[in-house]
Amino acid sequence: MESQLIAELRTMVRGRVAAGEPMAKHTSFRLGGPVEIYVCPRHEEEFVRVVRFARERGIPHFILGLGSNLLVGDGGLEGMVISTGGLRGEQWGDGAVRLGAGVALGAAANRAVARGLAGLEFAANIPGTAGGGLMMNAGAHGGELKDVLTWARVLLPGGMVEKVAPDRLELAYRRSGIKRRGWIVLEAEFSLAPAVRTQLQAQLETLRGRRRQTQPDGRTAGSVFKNPTGMAAGRLIESVGGKGLTVGKAEVSSLHANFIVAHEGARAEDVLRLMETVRKLVWEKTGVALEPEVEFWGARGETSRLAE
Ligand SMILES: Cc1cc2nc3c(=O)[nH]c(=O)nc-3n(C[C@H](O)[C@H](O)[C@H](O)COP(=O)(O)OP(=O)(O)OC[C@H]3O[C@@H](n4cnc5c(N)ncnc54)[C@H](O)[C@@H]3O)c2cc1C
Repeated sequence: MESQLIAELRTMVRGRVAAGEPMAKHTSFRLGGPVEIYVCPRHEEEFVRVVRFARERGIPHFILGLGSNLLVGDGGLEGMVISTGGLRGEQWGDGAVRLGAGVALGAAANRAVARGLAGLEFAANIPGTAGGGLMMNAGAHGGELKDVLTWARVLLPGGMVEKVAPDRLELAYRRSGIKRRGWIVLEAEFSLAPAVRTQLQAQLETLRGRRRQTQPDGRTAGSVFKNPTGMAAGRLIESVGGKGLTVGKAEVSSLHANFIVAHEGARAEDVLRLMETVRKLVWEKTGVALEPEVEFWGARGETSRLAE
């Protein structure tokens, strides 16, 4: 059955189609078992075709950006992972840029600065895509994508494509209405403003330096928990003695307590159990229920463990 599906997909797309692709190859944690079918369509038309195919056949499917906010279970995934890696269009204007959903945000922010265009500097060190960024309303250093989005083109559940205004995406702190509505971002436009290039470059350097000092290197997915209102999750975890806690080969960073580092030999299960341990500790000592920022893809039972 699986090989028949793969044969059909190969007649539809010229991009990569693979069976049993290890998800560890596609996540910043470098963790995750195999997905039954992995597809990376080459461009938007192929992408839309594959999504429609999966929907028509009732095949469970996951949309993958750069996997920088994902923890995929060791047991892997049933169904299909469809990568936005081929949606790489970029159109630059004086006051805006249109980015395909698969464009790396950080690289785009750097290109904007090189052109003397301000607006995306806050995103220069966020290692995700434009589409994944909108899904999470990614942000840093006081800026977020919500501030600069002018419109997005999305694939609707019925298979139609629509250009939507920012308010319809319901962007808020590290959340959006995109998944709930069953939408997939294909392209988005962000507003930019002409500025002095050297000043922008200096700003990027400052932000980069700040990151280097405050965030660990290595295999992470950035912040694992969202900041509760008015509080920094990292400080909260640190205050209850969370820094340096380990489960298996996963460790709460001693540099930034809201980062979990997956060391060599770590399993997704280690990270998941460590997240549960941290949540329990914070809950018991402070009464604050931390909400995961990292998304978990895996078997149903595993998924609900983080949703509780
Ligand atoms: C070192 C490090 C630092 C980080 N720093 C920050 C930070 O400062 N600020 C911040 O906000 N985040 C940060 N992150 C987290 C992460 O980079 C962001 O959440 C990013 O937006 C995820 O994008 P992605 O393309 O990797 O998405 P993925 O991890 O691939 O996917 C995340 C979710 O988005 C969905 N998705 C992906 N593409 C689309 C699409 N086109 N349409 C609809 N849904 C889609 C996926 O299905 C999934 O639900 C950091 C991560 C790391 C590893």
